Amino acid sequence: MKRIDQSYINGEFTVLHGTEVFDLINPANHQKIGEVVLGDENDTRRAITAAKEAFKTFSKTKVEERIGILENLKKAVEKREKELIETMILEYGGTRQFCTASFRNMTGAFEHMIETLRHFEFERKAGKTLVQMTPIGVVGIITPWNSSNGFICSKFATAVAAGCTVVVKPSEMSALQTQLIIECFHEAGLPKGIFNVVNGLGNVVGSEIVNHPDVAKISFTGSTYTGKMIAKGAVDSMKRITLELGGKSPNIILDDADFTKAVPQAVYGAYMNSGQACIAPTRLLVPQSRLEEVNELAKKAVFQVIVGNPANENTNVGPMVSEKQYERVQSYIKLGLEEGADLLAGGAGKPEGLENGNFVKATIFTNVRNDMRIAQEEIFGPVLSIIPYCNEEEAISIANDTPYGLAAYITSSDEKRALKVASQIEAGRVCINGFKHDPLAPFGGFKQSGIGREFGAFGLEEYLEPKSILV
Ligand code: NAD
Repeated sequence: MKRIDQSYINGEFTVLHGTEVFDLINPANHQKIGEVVLGDENDTRRAITAAKEAFKTFSKTKVEERIGILENLKKAVEKREKELIETMILEYGGTRQFCTASFRNMTGAFEHMIETLRHFEFERKAGKTLVQMTPIGVVGIITPWNSSNGFICSKFATAVAAGCTVVVKPSEMSALQTQLIIECFHEAGLPKGIFNVVNGLGNVVGSEIVNHPDVAKISFTGSTYTGKMIAKGAVDSMKRITLELGGKSPNIILDDADFTKAVPQAVYGAYMNSGQACIAPTRLLVPQSRLEEVNELAKKAVFQVIVGNPANENTNVGPMVSEKQYERVQSYIKLGLEEGADLLAGGAGKPEGLENGNFVKATIFTNVRNDMRIAQEEIFGPVLSIIPYCNEEEAISIANDTPYGLAAYITSSDEKRALKVASQIEAGRVCINGFKHDPLAPFGGFKQSGIGREFGAFGLEEYLEPKSILV
């Protein structure tokens, strides 16, 4: 069992003022695997002061120097691959397949920011005016548990590229992973004070970062509920905000698609990260006339889905991160039945033999109406809703009919047709024929899925203020 009683401030592992302790529980078997001492407002202020001081020098560094730092960070993370993956599996129950992919995104974050920096113009012309893109200041990074280190890496890589310094408030449920990533970054030999971390609760450490006048920007990934609180808090000091929030992504299978491939892919996709993924395609939109066929194919596919020990190579769905999350998913499964959706697979309760962890049955509802709460609200578990549509126009209208707009998926044998549909979808990312990720393309949400964009040049611009110099 590990006890984490230090955070990282001004280039040093530091004992915190805070005394409250949070237990870390393995979600696959409910055994205590560690505990973390939570920081308080004083710890947070110390970290902000260190970041503010470091910004004075770091904001003036040359691009070549920042590229060097990003290269060192990448190498340092690569060295700890095995430990990082095993800890993610242990601490939040992510499947081996997902955590391995997640690790690749972590190292990729540095690689792609280096590539972005090589082509980025920090000085441009607008009309006759010189525009300088200047680093914004101290950035508060607040992450969720469902891929905490991935978000720390991508957000910190962008901050380094911009010349910003950071204070990170990771999810309290990710303390073991955070400790490892701090060790990696420490070994990379960073300039003092550019990277600071304070373990703690959202309403203590998180709020202090959001309300502190010396923090210029918040980069947040988490729920829409918390995102709204952060936006309200940030407005007092007019902080810049990037909010990556929830989703209820549609997956439209058009009538010309190969259903034998598209339906199983849709089922496995909905269960990515055990259904705990903001971009998971949780609403499967299919032609009404083919609903029976889709139901049969989905049923066949779900019987192949392996729910169980996340450490096993072939497991597709691991446990929910916490008992609270397990209860939340259960309540939505009950709600689906009450709302009159047809249960095609799974259902309430734990799968046989997995009673000791937060495991949920791989669940599919069919004949779901888009106005049902199970189709409108983010469940964040392995629950797929199949929604029939009459024609393409209705499919687009259903796809857009949610408060969210993070991702969308379209499958068709006619790429031109799929592109036409994609252009009418209200989402920050639309994938055609498969689940794709381009770390240089902007990522973020329409509507209540967020504000701003991450990754590549679009993401970098969000850490910079344009300054016009008119001579
Ligand atoms: P959450 O909103 O509960 O917590 C996220 C972080 O915010 C945590 O570190 C938490 O401690 C902190 N926080 C809580 N209250 C705060 C406050 N008042 N002030 C400042 N910080 C506060 O989210 P979660 O349950 O950890 O993560 C799941 C959610 O994250 C889902 O809704 C999911 O869709 C979303 N998410 C979005 C993306 C994306 O890129 N759009 C990616 C992953 C997860």
